[in-house]
Amino acid sequence: MEKRDAVAAGLMLPIMEAFYTIQGEGAFTGHAAYFIRLGGCDVGCVWCDVKDSWEASKWPVQSIEEIVAEAKRFPGRKVVITGGEPLMYDLNPLTKLLKSEGFVAHIETSGAHPFSGDFDWVCFSPKKFKQPHPSIYEVANELKVVVFHKSDFEFAEKHANLVNSSCKLLLQPEWSKASVFTSQIVDYVKNHPNWNISLQTHKFMDIP
Ligand code: SF4
Repeated sequence: MEKRDAVAAGLMLPIMEAFYTIQGEGAFTGHAAYFIRLGGCDVGCVWCDVKDSWEASKWPVQSIEEIVAEAKRFPGRKVVITGGEPLMYDLNPLTKLLKSEGFVAHIETSGAHPFSGDFDWVCFSPKKFKQPHPSIYEVANELKVVVFHKSDFEFAEKHANLVNSSCKLLLQPEWSKASVFTSQIVDYVKNHPNWNISLQTHKFMDIP
């Protein structure tokens, strides 16, 4: 099979980086996890801190067997698939293999492409720059809205009205605007206690 066809089938994927660390944000903050960052994103957030990920062709393509073999070198069995925008790819083959090897699979996605894969935890972080695909709302376990502008509170509520009723609701200050928005988020959550706060604790700990 040609590499291009294997990528289209989800049997090979462009890997920007993969590393074992501590999940710094969201509902699993503080948990050891192996991160697999896929190359490729067409969302275009102005404040993106991984702009290098956008161009998929910059990154080496690996088979899902190679990807999972790397993950197995570490003691943790929680894997977070991130990007880039990981749902640009068919994630069914990778998640099936991860599950068969005893991993728990999480995803962090903007939801901008149709959902694929068998995930134990879906972190949906919608972006204003590209509309989410409707398939994400039913499967999202966590709605994590990054607050970069005061209009993001309204944006957050719009998506909260669309996700399933058991989805956790999280507001997270964008790192460079944290000094502006953290106090507003604190006030917002005190007044809207169905929301919780997520912080990028890995940045405080200076770990990837
Ligand atoms: S969706 Fe993620 S990777 Fe893509 S531009 Fe936005 S922040 Fe960057």
